[in-house]
Amino acid sequence: MQLAASPKVKHSAPTKHSPRSGKQQAERDNNHAASDVDVLIAGGGMVGASLAAALAPLALKIAVVEAVRFGSRGQPSYDDRITAVSWGSRRIFEGIGLWPQIAPEAAAIRHIHVSDRGHAGMMRLHAAEMGVEALGYVVPNRVIGLALSEFLLRQKHIVLLAPAKLESVQMQAEGVCTTLECGGMNSIKTRLLVAADGANSKIREQLGIDAHVWDYGQSAVICNVSVERPQAHTAFERFTGNGPLALLPMGEDRYALIWTVVNARVAEILAMADTEFLDAAAAGFNGRLGRFVKAGKRTTYPLSLVHAHTQSRGRAVLVGNAAHSLHPIAGQGFNLSLRDIAALADVLADITAVGGDLGDERQLAAYVRTRRRDQMSTTLFTDMLTRVFTNPLASIGWARNLGLLGLDFFPAARHRLARHNMGIAGRLPRLARGLGIKSEADCLAEQPAMSASFSASRMGCGLP
Ligand SMILES: Cc1cc2nc3c(=O)[nH]c(=O)nc-3n(C[C@H](O)[C@H](O)[C@H](O)COP(=O)(O)OP(=O)(O)OC[C@H]3O[C@@H](n4cnc5c(N)ncnc54)[C@H](O)[C@@H]3O)c2cc1C
Repeated sequence: MQLAASPKVKHSAPTKHSPRSGKQQAERDNNHAASDVDVLIAGGGMVGASLAAALAPLALKIAVVEAVRFGSRGQPSYDDRITAVSWGSRRIFEGIGLWPQIAPEAAAIRHIHVSDRGHAGMMRLHAAEMGVEALGYVVPNRVIGLALSEFLLRQKHIVLLAPAKLESVQMQAEGVCTTLECGGMNSIKTRLLVAADGANSKIREQLGIDAHVWDYGQSAVICNVSVERPQAHTAFERFTGNGPLALLPMGEDRYALIWTVVNARVAEILAMADTEFLDAAAAGFNGRLGRFVKAGKRTTYPLSLVHAHTQSRGRAVLVGNAAHSLHPIAGQGFNLSLRDIAALADVLADITAVGGDLGDERQLAAYVRTRRRDQMSTTLFTDMLTRVFTNPLASIGWARNLGLLGLDFFPAARHRLARHNMGIAGRLPRLARGLGIKSEADCLAEQPAMSASFSASRMGCGLP
């Protein structure tokens, strides 16, 4: 069992479990049984870890349980992907205090160019017309993972348990009893359980929450490429007969290519020699960026829409992909989740300020209701893009071209859409408005310093 760590962070030595007598085992189990925390976050991926970081100023006792060690190559959230982080998400990261760690590795998107191959329709959007420095930023997931793990490791009242897997949950009136596997079985009781364990969430299942899963029958092939004629700070979304292609600028001549293809074509695209692959991708852009000259490793992700029927039950709430997982065509999945957790952080800050119960079922249900509108519109928009822009019917082709031309021609419509995708539309949570998470009431009700008795070792996970 190790304290979660990034490549730059020193790991503590794994605990050695020697054979024990029945009595010793019973004592150990007893010692490990009743470690109470205020918030237990199952899943330390991009969303779970961001929530823990957002809650840091509240000085709550928080445990983040993550199945895969931070910094390891097999970490599923902080892998080789890059994420298009919206302007609104930048503000949330700023509010949390993470942006200075992310910014040096973030490439600004100042122009977006959307077009349909073989048709005249196109839509262009510029940061200047929206009055912002950038519409968004391209950030490698590993950079986000490193910034988050280093930030969390600095927080005295947040314990990061990794690798450790949440195995079971039992809802009780006063809290949620959980068991986790971390080189032995341990239990933690929490007032609030947050399931952030991804699209195939086992915690969601254990809570008895059904999810609608729609398999698009498509996969994203992602690969970093270099191009002959880069256009600075410009992201491209190009709809072609071979599926939509997105190019996200990573600086100089490098771009992250995301190519959505039907599953039947994945093997063929992976088997292509680099030159064949680069030519096929470049052909989608009709030479706009010249030849594609260098390709990195290709990886694929099967794509589906996951929508949990409800996002709270009793003292538990679902966030991130466990609550909703979107097609990456519009680059909205993480950005939407960041807005969710900023709103949840507001609710938990308000509860903390009045000494309320963090697992209050009604307040959690109210949080879910406040997020419904943004979640529905983002999900419907992404799903509509997926269906309309991968449909080969000629009549749909004409309709989507009219749509693109209309958006290009009418700034008001374009700006409305842009504000939503930039995460700056509607009522924004405190973090997204550049304010700290703590309300005035929070500050007055400042909790006493964390009790020294709350330490990782009390959880029996072999932490120092
Ligand atoms: C190809 C692709 C490109 C994308 N691009 C963008 C983009 O540009 N912009 C954008 O906004 N979004 C994008 N997304 C979406 C974004 O990646 C997701 O929204 C985000 O990763 C969701 O994070 P998460 O933490 O909810 O889930 P995950 O990333 O799945 O993390 C879940 C974590 O939970 C852990 N876990 C699982 N079970 C347990 C357990 N029982 N106990 C403890 N831990 C557990 C896992 O190890 C994992 O670390 C993209 C997605 C894909 C597939």
